[in-house]
Amino acid sequence: PTPLLEARDLKKTFRVPRSASGSTRLHALGGVDITVRRGETLGLVGESGCGKSTLARVLLMLERPDSGTVRFDGVDPFALRGKELPAWRRRVQMVFQDPFASLNPRLTAEELISEPWLSHRDVVPRRERAKRVAELLEMVGLRAGDAGRYPQEFSGGQRQRIGIARALALNPDLIVCDEPVSALDLSVQAQVLNLLTELQAELGVAYLFISHDLSVVRHVADRVAVMYLGRVVESGTAEEVFTAPRHPYTASLLSAAPSLEVTREQDRRQRIVLSGEVPSPVDPPAGCRFHPRCWKAEAVCGEVVPEVEPAPGGGHHAAACHLPLEVVTAAKADS
Ligand code: SF4
Ligand code: MG
Repeated sequence: PTPLLEARDLKKTFRVPRSASGSTRLHALGGVDITVRRGETLGLVGESGCGKSTLARVLLMLERPDSGTVRFDGVDPFALRGKELPAWRRRVQMVFQDPFASLNPRLTAEELISEPWLSHRDVVPRRERAKRVAELLEMVGLRAGDAGRYPQEFSGGQRQRIGIARALALNPDLIVCDEPVSALDLSVQAQVLNLLTELQAELGVAYLFISHDLSVVRHVADRVAVMYLGRVVESGTAEEVFTAPRHPYTASLLSAAPSLEVTREQDRRQRIVLSGEVPSPVDPPAGCRFHPRCWKAEAVCGEVVPEVEPAPGGGHHAAACHLPLEVVTAAKADS
């Protein structure tokens, strides 16, 4: 079947000032491939500045890529005109990081949730809107009686529930969640993540779930893509990527996240300490962009861009590395 969303070789640069006299280009996306299937959660992981948000903006059509293709349900959204555009926009919604900043404090919960219907009038008939708001409030674990309250009367977690109800108001096929729980307390994070999972099971909505936090992504993602400096360096099922990472960058991220269970193989590998800062995307390193920080780097790494290749033996667990880590199966790790 056609994937819900398929992006191929997306490139995006931005002009940035370099000095009083000139400018240079920031390489935000250096040829990104990404696939989101219907009803699944793709976790998109990476440090700040790796291009996650630019990718989200391109997929939401807020930004046009310099090159590459986007297909949503087989259709190029950038080629849509006239009435097709709002019909497409309805199908892709967004949940933001900061529910405090993203909700207008002068609107009630009911007004916030029903606001999308002002520009998409045919989704819910006017006379049914109050009833639909009540349903949406209950779906996200709030009470129908909360409809008249203002954002400042809710807790942070409750505000994010309103943000989710608002994203659901147009019955989207895909919700782009950009760090949706990063602004919340840990105990509240788990509740909101569980809510997202339950809503997916009930409605079949797909999520592109963007986060720098591996333990959060592990909690919700079916599949994972790891980004580094504008490129996807590893992708696979959450199980594959988290228990047997093939890219040294993924392994170092996992090793730096002590709250995650680690495999025996990773135990033996000990804690990998990443040297240096993420280099600037203004002048990214040649070859493998991770090579200045990689403990496995050899001469070829600074010269040749590694292609994204599936693991030997088939499957979809792919990594862009000249010297990928061996996938250690459970049987092998035990011997
Ligand atoms: Fe490290 Fe080389 Fe693989 Fe890049 S290609 S991650 S530098 S081993
Ligand atoms: Mg970001």
